[in-house]
Amino acid sequence: MHKIFNFLLEIEFYLKIAISCTIFQQLFYYLLHDLELNFPMQVILYWLVGSSSFYALGILIEKVIKKNNILTEKLTARVSKVKPQPFPAFTVKGIILGEIKAVISASIVLFLAPEVQRGNDIFLNFGWFLMRIIAADLCFYIAHWLLHRRWLQKIHLKHHEFRDSSSFVAGHKSLIEYVIVTITDVLPIFIFGYDITQLCAWSAIGNAYNLEGHSSLSIFFIPSDFHDLHHSSFTGNYGIHGFWDRVFNTLNPPTKKQGIMFPVSLVESKIIDSARIG
Ligand SMILES: [Zn+2]
Ligand SMILES: [Zn+2]
Repeated sequence: MHKIFNFLLEIEFYLKIAISCTIFQQLFYYLLHDLELNFPMQVILYWLVGSSSFYALGILIEKVIKKNNILTEKLTARVSKVKPQPFPAFTVKGIILGEIKAVISASIVLFLAPEVQRGNDIFLNFGWFLMRIIAADLCFYIAHWLLHRRWLQKIHLKHHEFRDSSSFVAGHKSLIEYVIVTITDVLPIFIFGYDITQLCAWSAIGNAYNLEGHSSLSIFFIPSDFHDLHHSSFTGNYGIHGFWDRVFNTLNPPTKKQGIMFPVSLVESKIIDSARIG
């Protein structure tokens, strides 16, 4: 029974991503479809959407949600306690270097990938995003699993300096890892081409689940329990969510039920409760 619900929770994650990306894509299409965006404008837009969503969502989680004790208690996903760690402080140099990296990678991605127009067909876009997240999850799984092999681990140890977790740990990685993860994330668009409205939507939603996955909370997309277990035990849970870990048998079983924004989990606890009463 648990297995079915955990599987449904993974499907729920894919659907949430595909639906949210489609909504954002429609919004970007509405704002941009009349404009002729040349290459530099596209780079600036893609970079701005990525960076502003990263900082805005990270600050929202760390400085607004986590400052509210009642909300934090409700949303906390962490069960196994680890020693609290001071998190990396933001420095002007660090932020500037990070943004330079982001502009360079945005330019390279848009320069190399062929541009396509996918318009605003909702079903076409939904199907594209659904395929995209399942493929991105598999690509990330493979790359991340490889980064845990002895001969590549060095590249990935910087990210694992934190056993405790905070949203911004999502961005804490070595330059080589940044390059590898960026390539795995955008690999499908080198093959299928990029539509700037899709790319912007993907980048904002990608930041949302990545920050949430490291936040030690379960808010909407992804219960942080999954990736917390990866940071505290260093083995297993290599994917974005559990689907590919289940397929390849590397899943650490979840230790905590998800928050109220996870319908599958709500249904599961209702069924378990009524079974207990009955
Ligand atoms: Zn890892
Ligand atoms: Zn991590």
